[in-house]
Amino acid sequence: MRADGAFVSVPEVTPALLSRYDVPGPRYTSYPAVPDWRGAFDHAAWAGHLAVLGTSAAPLALYVHLPFCASRCLYCGCNATVTTRAEVVDRYLTRLYRELDMLANAMGERAHVCEMHWGGGTPNFLTDRQCEQLFARLQDTFGIDARTECSVEADPRLVTREQLRTFRQLGFSRISYGVQDVDEAVQEAIGRVQPVSMVRDMVELARTEGFASLNLDLIYGLPRQTPGSFSRTIETALSMAPDRVACFGYAHVPWMKAHQKRIEESTLPRASERFALFRDAVRRFTNGGYRWIGIDHFARPEDPLSLAADAGRLHRNFMGYTTRSGEHLLGIGTSSISEIDGWFAQNAADLGPWQREIDAHRLPIARGHVMSDDDRQRGTAIAHLMCNAELPFDLFPGDIEPLVDAYEQCAADGLVRFESDRLTVTPLGRFFLRNLAFPLDAYRGAADGTRRFSRAV
Ligand code: SF4
Repeated sequence: MRADGAFVSVPEVTPALLSRYDVPGPRYTSYPAVPDWRGAFDHAAWAGHLAVLGTSAAPLALYVHLPFCASRCLYCGCNATVTTRAEVVDRYLTRLYRELDMLANAMGERAHVCEMHWGGGTPNFLTDRQCEQLFARLQDTFGIDARTECSVEADPRLVTREQLRTFRQLGFSRISYGVQDVDEAVQEAIGRVQPVSMVRDMVELARTEGFASLNLDLIYGLPRQTPGSFSRTIETALSMAPDRVACFGYAHVPWMKAHQKRIEESTLPRASERFALFRDAVRRFTNGGYRWIGIDHFARPEDPLSLAADAGRLHRNFMGYTTRSGEHLLGIGTSSISEIDGWFAQNAADLGPWQREIDAHRLPIARGHVMSDDDRQRGTAIAHLMCNAELPFDLFPGDIEPLVDAYEQCAADGLVRFESDRLTVTPLGRFFLRNLAFPLDAYRGAADGTRRFSRAV
């Protein structure tokens, strides 16, 4: 990889190396990962802790979860509810406003919101009226103003010009479309058919309506994907010139997501094929002028993500990669996750339990974790590794010798190099960043061979 982040050659891997690293593991959007949380507090303690938001100078980011979709995509790993009825959304929003009231009471003072993201589900399943009402309630509760960077996920199958106008008038400047794969056979296998012409029209419309930034989500490892079909997907994405591309690996976890059982496992690409698909994406996007960011993102060189990566200012939280450091993240709605001053909390994932908690006037958290000093140090080291592809030894708490031992196999496999003061990830190692965090993870143990996490390759 050249210093400017563009690839001049993409490494080959042997089957033996691939099978050594094709094991389950976290994506490290938090440390510890959610399945490792110890759940040490209840809703009252969480409410008490939120008072820190009233006095903290650190920026606040909001994530609003809108779980409704018109139909179920078979690969879906999100927390989503399929419905055709607008009144179901109204009932959800009524509860969401009560959650906002409880959060406002707990926070005391208003915190300024630097960033707000609406995710799902399908946020653009909401009607214009519902979007306007929700935005107004969020404005009433938090210090949302013209400085707040607002982004929204949208399903191109449902987008209309009026809807894009509404989002723009409300202040959304970033939009992300789910594309996944443009091949018809793949789209049929995943239960999500959307012609390329439709996506292209929606991309054009988003530009015409003035969105400053456009992201496309792709997924590799889907059923019936082949190098040829995915190559066409990459080519199509490049032709639309998005500012950012997220290229996620499909997580096949039918024991956690029952609808994935409808995907025939024999149609899924094998590990070596999955690796080849992603390697092709890295090659094509970097040769197409994009920077490879973290594990699975690509951004144009002038994009804030690329500038932050170049300057070593990239950070990682539950929303993915971000350019802001030390921010608090407050999640609202079912399954959303918060990270406030060393405390993690996740809301109840299912509508029923979430509603019941709100109706009982309790913040609807289902689990949480308070970071220890060791968690903070390891979390900082892991985040640095996931963002900067290096591990300065002074970030690692404790004795370095066992750590050097733990990375010996990785060094022998050509994934890392030992320098005098740090571990540097090689171009080949970039493909295994998740694996390279494992030696830093004190919670990693025997149970990781079970079905707690998706595969790292
Ligand atoms: S639109 Fe998105 S959230 Fe909804 S079912 Fe499909 S993948 Fe899941």
